[in-house]
Amino acid sequence: MRKERELLRRVMEISGQNLYSCYQCGKCSAGCPSVDFMDFTPREIIRAILDDHEEVLHSQTPWICAACFTCTIRCPNEIDISRIMEALRQIRLRKMHDGIHPSKIPVDELLELPQIALISCFRKMTG
Ligand code: SF4
Ligand code: SF4
Repeated sequence: MRKERELLRRVMEISGQNLYSCYQCGKCSAGCPSVDFMDFTPREIIRAILDDHEEVLHSQTPWICAACFTCTIRCPNEIDISRIMEALRQIRLRKMHDGIHPSKIPVDELLELPQIALISCFRKMTG
């Protein structure tokens, strides 16, 4: 039988963050420089995890998050949201789901991109 709130339990365990302290003020989303490209805003990610909505695992948001820590600094409850994004990526990566497939990057982009950007990308988005 599936454990109650399994997603919430795993995210809190991996991230070390207490999601119950989020009161949905939205300050994280309001300051996020990448929010326009996200399918779930940072605030919505927290809400979905609290509600144990597993579809959040298929969201593009954790892959788009630039780990800039703006949300973390803005949160009045000191929730490190970038760690929560990392936890969601880890859950996917541990299931052998990569966020990017090197073979699908167009060759002209591969030639243009700085090597350090590619290495960072592979470290973050491949298992
Ligand atoms: S800023 Fe903090 S308390 Fe406010 S919605 Fe974001 S995570 Fe929740
Ligand atoms: S760490 Fe990620 S979610 Fe937080 S503000 Fe930066 S890009 Fe947005």
